[in-house]
Amino acid sequence: MSALSASRLLRTLVWPGWKSHSSKPAQNVQLSKPGSGFSFELTDEQKEFQATARKFALEEIIPVAAEYDRTGEYPVPLIKRAWELGLMNSHIPESCGGLGLGTFEACLITEELAYGCTGVQTAIEANSLGQMPVIIAGNEQQKKKYLGRMTEEPLMCAYCVTEPGAGSDVAGIRTRAERKGDEYVINGQKMWITNGGKANWYFLLARTDPDPRAPASKAFTGFIVEANSPGIQIGRKELNMGQRCSDTRGIVFEDVRVPKENVLIAEGAGFKIAMGAFDKTRPPVAAGAVGLARRALDEATRYALERKTFGKPIVEHQAVAFLLAEMAMKVELARLGYQRAAWEVDAGRRNTFYASIAKAFAGDVANQVATDAVQIFGGNGFNTEYPVEKLMRDAKIYQIYEGTAQIQRVIIAREHLGRHKA
Ligand SMILES: Cc1cc2nc3c(=O)[nH]c(=O)nc-3n(C[C@H](O)[C@H](O)[C@H](O)COP(=O)(O)OP(=O)(O)OC[C@H]3O[C@@H](n4cnc5c(N)ncnc54)[C@H](O)[C@@H]3O)c2cc1C
Repeated sequence: MSALSASRLLRTLVWPGWKSHSSKPAQNVQLSKPGSGFSFELTDEQKEFQATARKFALEEIIPVAAEYDRTGEYPVPLIKRAWELGLMNSHIPESCGGLGLGTFEACLITEELAYGCTGVQTAIEANSLGQMPVIIAGNEQQKKKYLGRMTEEPLMCAYCVTEPGAGSDVAGIRTRAERKGDEYVINGQKMWITNGGKANWYFLLARTDPDPRAPASKAFTGFIVEANSPGIQIGRKELNMGQRCSDTRGIVFEDVRVPKENVLIAEGAGFKIAMGAFDKTRPPVAAGAVGLARRALDEATRYALERKTFGKPIVEHQAVAFLLAEMAMKVELARLGYQRAAWEVDAGRRNTFYASIAKAFAGDVANQVATDAVQIFGGNGFNTEYPVEKLMRDAKIYQIYEGTAQIQRVIIAREHLGRHKA
């Protein structure tokens, strides 16, 4: 049974609230399309996805999140369950057995999963990041083979671009791919790869033009690499500050042979593909940051209503109430940021400007709001018995991965100035 039919069946069986539905992307974004007016109202289908993800986060992720954080164990049962419920791989096209949802729907789901635990959400989101180059640049055969198998069982994939010597400066990567007959031979080292030790296949960016003067737009090639290819050595699981159940690793590629059929588009097209994927993945990353911030706000609000000092709940001290007001303002605005970025790309428009604004703003908001939540908890906030210290640790990565806070500003400034010069 395909993941699509399996997940639909499960929805009907497990969540009585689920209605069977068609999931054509055009239908999903109909209300948001240019020309149909301006609306903050979600479609019934969007509400259903959101409600299912929320229920899953509240009932199944939150009760076990602290333990996964403590052990750093990869959350296999939660990932399987998310897959069964149709909350993973939502953008795999229907032609490959997927749901074919838009970025907007992916964001709604992601905010809810992140509310539960951003370690779990990142493991799931890394699948989208690994798949996105194939979705935007793969031919039908590549899509059917590599995306199709992910609708048959809960497999993971990964996006292998960063190296020990190059993260922000992607054009500085040194992994080489050399054409030998009908194959490419890959040598190099990748670092910080989410799902690195769990992936079934990788999207990998390598240099194919050895000439250092070759422009980035021609020097790199994107490959799909089977994770069980001989010559791949997977490093140890990295012990990170936060999102500890997510699997982050270094990977060495030594004489790894990849058939030429696994090149995306053509030799030299890789840089654009690798960067282009971010237009569709940064809005969901921003949505993850919003989910974390919303959770921090909720935890802090509950605590402020209960905790008493000087004879009254701390929420009645104006300084605390205003802090909560500031946190609420940030959560609401960060959500609007990712929704705009997702809406733009679903409407078929270039959204690089909005995607970077959404990611940069939400990443900062997650950090500010989680820190403020710790403040509202006082000494308890600094302790692992309470949920907010985990949120503060988990938040930091939103200012680093998928382009740091600084790199987002570089992009926003470039896009902004480009509009003025045009
Ligand atoms: C937990 C985790 C998961 C990750 N998952 C993945 C993954 O799945 N796949 C993948 O390919 N990568 C992944 N990464 C890598 C991540 O995208 C990079 O760490 C990030 O892009 C930054 O690169 P860097 O670490 O090399 O820092 P550097 O690029 O060395 O940057 C160091 C500092 O300098 C600043 N800086 C750099 N250049 C500029 C500039 N031009 N202007 C202003 N400031 C600048 C940066 O903002 C940063 O503060 C992950 C990283 C982590 C920690």
